[in-house]
Amino acid sequence: MELQDTFGRKFKYLRLSITELCNFKCNYCLPEGNACDTPTSGMSLKEINTLVRAFARMGTTKIRVTGGEPALRRDLTDIIQICKNTVGIETVALTTNAFRLNKDAQAYKNAGLDALNVSADSLDPRMFAAITGKNKLEDILEGVDAAIQAGIKTVKFNTVMLKQFNYKELSSFFNYLKEHPVTWRFIELMQTGDNQQFFAQNHVAGESIKSQLLEQGWERIIRSKDAGPAQEFSHSQYQGNIGLIMPYSKDFCTTCNRLRVSSQGKLHLCLFAEEGQSILPYLQDEDVDATVEAICAHVQTKEETHSLHQGFTGATKQLAMLGG
Ligand code: SAM
Ligand code: SF4
Repeated sequence: MELQDTFGRKFKYLRLSITELCNFKCNYCLPEGNACDTPTSGMSLKEINTLVRAFARMGTTKIRVTGGEPALRRDLTDIIQICKNTVGIETVALTTNAFRLNKDAQAYKNAGLDALNVSADSLDPRMFAAITGKNKLEDILEGVDAAIQAGIKTVKFNTVMLKQFNYKELSSFFNYLKEHPVTWRFIELMQTGDNQQFFAQNHVAGESIKSQLLEQGWERIIRSKDAGPAQEFSHSQYQGNIGLIMPYSKDFCTTCNRLRVSSQGKLHLCLFAEEGQSILPYLQDEDVDATVEAICAHVQTKEETHSLHQGFTGATKQLAMLGG
């Protein structure tokens, strides 16, 4: 059985949020930290197991565990293991602010983690602290080294480009890639319910980074059709690659291959859609058949594109609610 919407898009990739809690205060995401009404617990291991089996039955092959900050859950390695041990799931990935990576990289790898995305919004410790509210850059870079040492196959960095903060540091990110064989992905700041003024002051169009790359001799890598939304670039004098994620670019949604489930067991068809659809009762009953049926039916209502260009951000107040 294949999970397909009315526009012919197939969904082999699940982004699974396991908590809304976060210990960082990134200025574009949770500048004041978690609100006091943020749910403190997420789905149980049994509920996650049922969910993952249902998605695998519908052809999902890749799961990204995200949050909030997923490493705040003590059972993160159990969750990685559940995903990895599910028949049909080939790739398990994690997106993290890396605050525990230095200690836990080997445990993640032993649990079956294939790929890691680390958020790092600056290579300057003071700028890093100004953006995230945490003075932890050195620890995070050490964590990335530990992950590579542990043998995690793919390691990528994520940076949200911010006009008044890290945009002037583009060249230091590029320089890092001269010596490090990793991919550094620059993400266009997205407008959410909570960050409208910040968005207006800080959004940088990814196309401006793309022009700089092309001027400096970076070349576009041709990727497979189902590779997801990042445009990737390589350069003969650099060991690492660059990725651009530009949700405001034309036709961004035509290659959409992902669905999202929140830590509260709601299926979200788009980061910027209206309220998610709860599938929690089926998960609580450990009913894989009913979960499959509910997901298939809801996917038929997925819209062709988001409405960010019209300033419509849906029900998403900030991305920590849903994992980006
Ligand atoms: N806490 C983890 C982390 O920061 O990697 C996982 C959750 S975080 C919401 C997932 C990704 O969303 C991060 O790479 C973060 O930089 C990105 N993100 C958060 N808010 C964003 C926004 N308004 N626009 C673009 N990216 C955003
Ligand atoms: Fe936390 Fe990640 Fe949001 Fe930063 S981007 S506040 S680390 S959830």
